[in-house]
Amino acid sequence: MTFQHVAIIGLGLLGGSIGLAVQEHLPQIKTTGYDADPATRARAAERGLIAAVCDSAAAAVQGADLVIMCVPVGAMGAAAAAIAGALPAGALVSDVGSSKQTVAKALAEALPGHAIIPAHPVAGTERSGPDAGFASLFQQRWCIITPPAPPALGADPALLAALCAFWEALGAKVDVMDAAHHDMVLAVTSHLPHLIAYTIVGTASDLEGVTESEVIKYSAGGFRDFTRIAASDPTMWRDVFLSNKDAVLDMLQRFTEDLTALQRAIRVGDGDQLFEHFARTRAIRRSIIELGQDDARPDFGRSDHDS
Ligand code: NAP
Repeated sequence: MTFQHVAIIGLGLLGGSIGLAVQEHLPQIKTTGYDADPATRARAAERGLIAAVCDSAAAAVQGADLVIMCVPVGAMGAAAAAIAGALPAGALVSDVGSSKQTVAKALAEALPGHAIIPAHPVAGTERSGPDAGFASLFQQRWCIITPPAPPALGADPALLAALCAFWEALGAKVDVMDAAHHDMVLAVTSHLPHLIAYTIVGTASDLEGVTESEVIKYSAGGFRDFTRIAASDPTMWRDVFLSNKDAVLDMLQRFTEDLTALQRAIRVGDGDQLFEHFARTRAIRRSIIELGQDDARPDFGRSDHDS
């Protein structure tokens, strides 16, 4: 099966990028969408993020066979409730939320009797809003799909295959995994790094004896890369930490133990331990580059649009 009409709820970075990518790679698919913010709707229409921007969520999903929820994780339940009365019976509902167990539960509660397959394209930038989206966001990026277990309607293999094909057509590489495993993996690869970046940037700005101009002036010494991550959307990240609480706290505990070990190595002057640790982490960076998930240029290879 292939989709004929995709409705996108939430027209910010992710929703806008999906709309642009569908129009570029799957032009035969009709695109409609809705955003709660009237200014975002107006800008989405101006930029042509989707073919038709609707005045209500209910209007946007009429006739759709795929609905993708692109709102902050904490807003998924309310956004799904707003489409419940108008959602066509056979439509597949998916999302792009950064945590999966909480979102799956919120969508299932708001849309009983509908097929739901949550997904998370691991692609983004620190920007948000309707001006942030671009069609190539998903190129060569992973999209993790977390189908529910039978007897849920979303466990239908034909629906899963159609959703995988959709994301592949937008340029993504697809992985299918259990939602709990997703939440654990992303806690360490995405959520914890964001928490650390938010902490470091906050610590530096609070330091007495170091002026703000010095922090900015000497930022190239490593701090600058943290500031990029710490500039990420506050609403989105508040919701991610609250919704993936258990996995994040678990990873934070392990991180704290490892940090304490390095702290001790510094205190006792154990250079071998420090060297071995840094050599191991350097090899991980090389693997990421070899797998095409980043490049080796000193600025991390980031153009204006890449994350
Ligand atoms: P964004 O640019 O802020 O866009 C979200 C949009 O949804 C905003 O315009 C927001 O309007 C709107 N919205 C909020 N509640 C709504 C509702 N009930 N109905 C309709 N629209 C509503 O955020 P984003 O970066 O695209 O993130 C969207 C989702 O993608 C999140 O779940 C996030 O976890 C996930 N994600 C993000 C990234 C990333 O790097 N940014 C990567 C992968 C996945 P207001 O601004 O008025 O609230």
